Amino acid sequence: MASIGIAGAGLVGRLFAWALSRAGHQVEVFDPAPGPAPRFDGQGAAAFSAAGMLSPRAEAESGGAAIAALGWTSLALWPQIVAQLRLPVRLQFDDSLLLAHGQDFGAAQRALARIDGAEALSADQLAELEPSLQPGLRAWRLPGEGLIHPVEAMTALHEGATARWHWGQVVPAIEPGCLGDHRFDWAIDARGLGAKSIHLPLRGVRGEIISLALAGHGLRRPLRLLHPRHRIYLLPRDEATLIVGASEIESEDRSPVSLQSAVELMAAAHSLMPALAEARITRLDVNLRPALPDHHPHAHAEPGLLRLNGLYRHGWLLAPALVQQLLLGSGLASLELS
Ligand SMILES: Cc1cc2nc3c(=O)[nH]c(=O)nc-3n(C[C@H](O)[C@H](O)[C@H](O)COP(=O)(O)OP(=O)(O)OC[C@H]3O[C@@H](n4cnc5c(N)ncnc54)[C@H](O)[C@@H]3O)c2cc1C
Repeated sequence: MASIGIAGAGLVGRLFAWALSRAGHQVEVFDPAPGPAPRFDGQGAAAFSAAGMLSPRAEAESGGAAIAALGWTSLALWPQIVAQLRLPVRLQFDDSLLLAHGQDFGAAQRALARIDGAEALSADQLAELEPSLQPGLRAWRLPGEGLIHPVEAMTALHEGATARWHWGQVVPAIEPGCLGDHRFDWAIDARGLGAKSIHLPLRGVRGEIISLALAGHGLRRPLRLLHPRHRIYLLPRDEATLIVGASEIESEDRSPVSLQSAVELMAAAHSLMPALAEARITRLDVNLRPALPDHHPHAHAEPGLLRLNGLYRHGWLLAPALVQQLLLGSGLASLELS
């Protein structure tokens, strides 16, 4: 049994804490947040603000084959993780849909050229799959893609990890076996954007996202709109809640959602689903995605130290695969069903 100190109780930190404590290690986690619950004030873990799209095919358009391959590995791991958690976590793999308005068909085809396995749908097929959508949309199905409920997953990972949680604690420096003044057998750096330094050229990429309430909305699976200017997605969180996201702005501004982003996101979503006219806006949220210059993740292992960062816009898609690589490489644990 090893003593392990983890800096950061976001997605990466909680996955490590859960897997390592389950393997019998003594785990302590440090995070500046006042507690484990989300606050939606733009300051907490990016993981709470995420939509939870699990889209290896669509993300390959910008991330390439490496991101897609890690994504498929994670898609095999998520059901095993969720099956071992005591609290319920919504996880679905009913495919996702790419949509385009007729006038944007050219732009959509250029994007589709970079996406593997998209299956064109007829108008009748689309109406059968998603009856609540505006007629006349062009549509493609992305088989195997899915969705996770980030807040439920963060809550369940915290509840399932037998760790000492030190809230309100900033870890300024990390060395092998050391988090600040605290000594462990292993130190894990899972600070997301909080690890920004001259050694790790991280930057925050602002994302704005909107929660809507609409009882009986009828949407079954995540949608992405292929649009020349906005890449918006609309997804069902539960039977009465929808999520519209997300802006992607080169800024570390954590201030509230701008009028322009809100208008653009909601207008694009409404153009897909007319019934959204009656939806109620329940939350406007903002957070920063931790990104490296090449937009690829950075995983590092040396004796006594693991680091994982730069998960950018694909953290929920990539984290299980990358955490698993580091766990197996260090011989400390595994995320797989035991
Ligand atoms: C609007 C939005 C939508 C998104 N949608 C998706 C999506 O649909 N699918 C997807 O796969 N990904 C999505 N993401 C990306 C995903 O949320 C991130 O990639 C992921 O949260 C990164 O995980 P992380 O653990 O590295 O960082 P975080 O989740 O940000 O966690 C970092 C933690 O470290 C803590 N910390 C910071 N500094 C310190 C310090 N000095 N000491 C100790 N702790 C510290 C923070 O308080 C925080 O709790 C989205 C992100 C945003 C913002």
